[in-house]
Amino acid sequence: NHPKGGDRRHVLLAGPRSFCAGVERAIEIVERTLESRGAPVYVRKQIVHNATVVEDLSQRGAVFVQELNEVPAGATVVFSAHGVSPAVRQEAARRGLDVIDGTCPLVARVHAKARRYAARADTIVLIGHAGHEEVEGTLGEAPESIVLVETADDVQRLSPADPGRISYLTQTTLAVDETTEVVDALRARFPLLHEPASEDICYATTNRQHALDAILDDADLVLVVGSPNSSNSVRLVELSRRQGTPAELIDRASDIRPEWLEGVRTIGLTAGASAPPELVTEVITVLRTLGPVTVEERELTRETVHFDLPPAVRGAEPRPA
Ligand code: SF4
Repeated sequence: NHPKGGDRRHVLLAGPRSFCAGVERAIEIVERTLESRGAPVYVRKQIVHNATVVEDLSQRGAVFVQELNEVPAGATVVFSAHGVSPAVRQEAARRGLDVIDGTCPLVARVHAKARRYAARADTIVLIGHAGHEEVEGTLGEAPESIVLVETADDVQRLSPADPGRISYLTQTTLAVDETTEVVDALRARFPLLHEPASEDICYATTNRQHALDAILDDADLVLVVGSPNSSNSVRLVELSRRQGTPAELIDRASDIRPEWLEGVRTIGLTAGASAPPELVTEVITVLRTLGPVTVEERELTRETVHFDLPPAVRGAEPRPA
């Protein structure tokens, strides 16, 4: 499956890609907790939605659980980057667990808005995907006040008590273009809609989508490194396909199927915010085993966002991998 005519294959790297500041912080929290408290450190849900990250931390002593009842009394538990509902915090306090919170500050900001909008008696429309951990956490902030919508059609089915008191929030990892459609439907149906002062879709999600958009026209195939349960990675695959460029989601380089590459000269390569940068390097290494490759990076934006660690782990140094 060498490219036709013995020509080189071209890899167009979208930038930014891979880890965002919230994911780096969440992983560092688990590493530092392992260092300061020693293994095992319990982590509620996957710390970030990436199979490689979870495997690596498991090997180093992290124990991933679905719910708090799997955590022994008095043990240390880290909450994942996606955040938790107040009910989970209350249960942890009731059980006397030592909690270290890995919630991304940008998710925590959405939770704070949910509390604020509920306090002013708004019906809150949450745009997001049912069942996603982040959505469950946000819903839990004001279950009586929040209604989840996934599409513009869902907006037509809303029947709020007071159409004059509606605000909206979104999951942080949605497709920017699809979310605009839903918000437009909300504006059309509820002219008095309270608009938020800032977007909830985070900088990392937005930047990765724009960076991919900038290479799509030049790519015959897009490879997105990310796990199937990573919302922002799946959105990148969908974005590419919507614009007419075939795209595949791969957890790691070994997932690449040779038939995808048949006749493909230019491969667009990106990675979701939870996918380690080394996995992208591995993809290039594997592509080189299939024939000569040139690599070009198109960096649309340079990210400088950094989040401070929680005080509980600030002193401890992470153990080297
Ligand atoms: Fe935070 Fe955005 Fe990263 Fe999610 S994708 S962890 S909201 S920075």
